[in-house]
Amino acid sequence: MNCHEFQTLIQPFLKKEEMPPEQLEAFLEHAAVCRECYDELEIYYILQIGLNEAEHSDTSLDFRSELKHFLWRAGRDLEYLNRFSWLRNTIVVSAEIITVFSLILCMIGLF
Ligand SMILES: [Zn+2]
Repeated sequence: MNCHEFQTLIQPFLKKEEMPPEQLEAFLEHAAVCRECYDELEIYYILQIGLNEAEHSDTSLDFRSELKHFLWRAGRDLEYLNRFSWLRNTIVVSAEIITVFSLILCMIGLF
């Protein structure tokens, strides 16, 4: 992902809009390696979420660590998603194997 792509995804990311897992992964990777984009993300975060939260709660105003936590949560969700798709693929493959075996058993039974 390049800087331009990253910057167009900042708003959807902060609004927690659905993103394909590969795109989210690329986004998080870019945030981890590109200082300029991370700074940009931080500014948007402070403006959008930070100020909004500050109005509604008197909890910490430490936006930097809150953003890190936000990114960490997104990464964790992605991990769950990847694990889940692995599990889903395993179930699909198992179901296919069972279907093939039942077909074989039927054939053996028939002949
Ligand atoms: Zn960048």
